[in-house]
Amino acid sequence: MRPSLPPMTERGADATLETDLLIIGAGPTGLYAAYYAGFRGLRVALVDSLPELGGQITAMYPEKAILDVAGFPSVKGRDLVAGLVDQAAAADPAYLLGRTALSLTQTPDAVVVGLDDGTSVRAGAMIITAGIGKFSPRPLPVGKEWIGRGLEFFVPSFEPYVGKEVVIVGGGDSAFDWAMHLEPIAKFVTLVHRRDAFRAHQRTVHMVRASSVRILTKAQITGIVGDSSIEAVEVTVDGQPPATMPCQALVAALGFIADLGPLQQWGLDVAKRHVVVDSSMRTNLSRVFAAGDITEYPGKVRLIAVGFGEAATAVNNAAVVIDPAAHIFPGHSSEGS
Ligand SMILES: Cc1cc2nc3c(=O)[nH]c(=O)nc-3n(C[C@H](O)[C@H](O)[C@H](O)COP(=O)(O)OP(=O)(O)OC[C@H]3O[C@@H](n4cnc5c(N)ncnc54)[C@H](O)[C@@H]3O)c2cc1C
Repeated sequence: MRPSLPPMTERGADATLETDLLIIGAGPTGLYAAYYAGFRGLRVALVDSLPELGGQITAMYPEKAILDVAGFPSVKGRDLVAGLVDQAAAADPAYLLGRTALSLTQTPDAVVVGLDDGTSVRAGAMIITAGIGKFSPRPLPVGKEWIGRGLEFFVPSFEPYVGKEVVIVGGGDSAFDWAMHLEPIAKFVTLVHRRDAFRAHQRTVHMVRASSVRILTKAQITGIVGDSSIEAVEVTVDGQPPATMPCQALVAALGFIADLGPLQQWGLDVAKRHVVVDSSMRTNLSRVFAAGDITEYPGKVRLIAVGFGEAATAVNNAAVVIDPAAHIFPGHSSEGS
């Protein structure tokens, strides 16, 4: 396909980047859209606020087995993301990580998106694959200064927990999953939850209860003790005096605060914190498409598999906006193999 914009360039701070298709959000939907953009011969750039690729999967459940992605009876979150990144590599995407899309300006033949580091990206079309928005972990009421010194919000790999006394705070799926996975390798795992009911899957709760993990309910972390890193935590169970327990790794699995943030100021038709699209994944703004968890339409189901289909639809329709001579249907990928 003919390049519709000058070659992509980046010129340091306050750079202007030019591309055919800009994708906001490098979760599974955005990554698959990047592959598909390459298949359509489009130059593509992806922006994500997080420093890593993979969206919710990387941030929240990289070690979990996913059972409902077509073609994979069971795939670990991290492995699915690695496969998507490999597949997208064919498109040679420009990844702009650790940057948040703040502003949108429309011109007759392009969209221009301003990022929080001063970069502007000018594109023939864009696809918003921003999922649940920019998300940040819910903080632990005590201990902000211990982040990175023993206090973490994610468990992206288990290796750093080998032989440690681990305290996990929370009562949801992540807290119980991590407790279950760390129990065999840590010296000891304690799970602290401020209620006596859990939001996690019953099956996982039963498995953790049957393990050596100590579960403290109606309990909170009220203090952290240490020097350069955490050495102990103070736990207060309702109605009892605070108790100190040794701990070298504290995991706060308290959920996330998701925020659509700047996207809400762009003039998009938003319903219940989601972007309304039609059957071609078009939003109400010209040259702006959306796909994945962020979209809203009658019957919407928020699943990875659905996001993949929406990504293909969005890219193929965007291809025609970028080059009106192009066809929506790209042909089958197997025809070129
Ligand atoms: C614990 C858990 C288990 C799950 N298990 C399954 C499962 O088994 N099967 C299944 O199908 N689904 C599962 N899901 C849901 C699945 O993860 C989502 O449907 C999927 O991640 C949606 O992908 P996405 O790419 O649309 O959005 P996301 O994965 O949310 O990615 C969106 C990305 O956009 C970025 N972003 C947002 N706003 C901006 C901005 N302004 N600027 C720059 N970047 C921005 C975010 O940082 C994020 O990385 C699970 C979810 C959770 C939390």
